[in-house]
Amino acid sequence: VPAIPPSSNKGIFVATIVDDASLATLRAEVRDFLRTERDAGTYRPICDCWLEGHDPAFSRKLGERGWLGMTWPREYGGHERSSLERFVVTEELLAAGAPVAAHWVADRQTGPLLLRYGTEEQRRQYLSGIAAGELFVAIGMSEPDSGSDLASIRSSAQKVEGGWLVNGTKVWTSHAHRSDVLVALVRTSKAGSDRHAGLSQLLIPLDADGITVSPIEVMTGEAHFAEVALNDVFVADAQVVGAVGDGWQQVTSELAYERSGPERFMSTYPLFDALVSEVDEAADDDLGAVIGQMWALHLLSEDVNRSIEAGTADPATPALVKDAGTRLEGEIIEVARSAMSHLGDPSTELRRLFREASLAAPAFTLRGGTNEILRTIIAKSWGTSRA
Ligand SMILES: Cc1cc2nc3c(=O)[nH]c(=O)nc-3n(C[C@H](O)[C@H](O)[C@H](O)COP(=O)(O)OP(=O)(O)OC[C@H]3O[C@@H](n4cnc5c(N)ncnc54)[C@H](O)[C@@H]3O)c2cc1C
Repeated sequence: VPAIPPSSNKGIFVATIVDDASLATLRAEVRDFLRTERDAGTYRPICDCWLEGHDPAFSRKLGERGWLGMTWPREYGGHERSSLERFVVTEELLAAGAPVAAHWVADRQTGPLLLRYGTEEQRRQYLSGIAAGELFVAIGMSEPDSGSDLASIRSSAQKVEGGWLVNGTKVWTSHAHRSDVLVALVRTSKAGSDRHAGLSQLLIPLDADGITVSPIEVMTGEAHFAEVALNDVFVADAQVVGAVGDGWQQVTSELAYERSGPERFMSTYPLFDALVSEVDEAADDDLGAVIGQMWALHLLSEDVNRSIEAGTADPATPALVKDAGTRLEGEIIEVARSAMSHLGDPSTELRRLFREASLAAPAFTLRGGTNEILRTIIAKSWGTSRA
């Protein structure tokens, strides 16, 4: 891959990756597309673009190019490409700070969830829309009193003729007010001695009767997540994902996708990229340390990606990627703070990206499972492997 000059808004980390010829061609294609879109003013690079950059029209363009549902079977609208090819596209979109939030959750985890556990009817109903960048999904796991201790959720589904009647409240549901479907984790039978039993996943259209979605504004003034109140919402039997009562096991496997991708270490990459183009990198050891860590995370994340595909992923390694990766995302902000204090006049662009990254940072170690919880998972796994 040719070195990319910093002025093209490409930093040194991605430019140092060594791809084989076909991956290099794909990487170049994505860069060309992104450069054209940026030059046309379709978007400007932002930090935390996979949460903050919600642009359905941009997602549709990615769908048209075959960059959504990349690994899925063609019969469901996918493109049967390798997971490594998907990884390359993901990394380039994040590096460019492109607006990818609209499709992110559906492409990353709902598609694989349905391919693994969904019925044929569900796959036909949802996958091609997701791959086209036209059907967006929100994840309803957390509740007002249940986050880390997810098994304590109180939203429930009661069996009725032909389906389920759902009641409860979900919160921090990213883009629920801009999505079509909610994948909700609910209790379908009372918690017994095994708290993880009796949970199920349901696909619920967000315009169904009985649903109220209330956006929640954050410090930036943006409202990227919402509270979702479910009041006697009828969900047909055909919309249960997998086996009734197996929700915990399904959610656990879904979380491997959620915790291990490059978005867990690249949320502040656009800031780093802008920083590199303004400071003398040779004079700054901190920049080298960031690149080293990012490189290690790239390899680890790629490795998890392969093990997920092979069905051999353990819960600890994705947790490791997210714990180390989100810490690096925060560290980049501190490196930028220090480097910018030595710059006489940081550019407006650099200052904007620094502001955005700083405002987004508190969420990095919380969303997708807090770092304390992830370390517990890692420690337990280490203990088991030594037993
Ligand atoms: C930006 C953002 C987007 C999100 N999007 C979604 C979404 O789309 N869908 C969704 O379902 N959820 C979403 N969430 C919610 C997220 O998953 C929860 O915030 C997270 O799981 C933590 O739960 P909580 O907020 O209830 O905190 P709590 O579980 O109450 O934790 C509070 C603090 O206590 C610590 N703590 C709790 N238990 C332990 C323990 N056993 N040991 C050590 N420390 C502990 C935690 O680490 C944390 O620091 C999102 C959150 C954020 C910030």
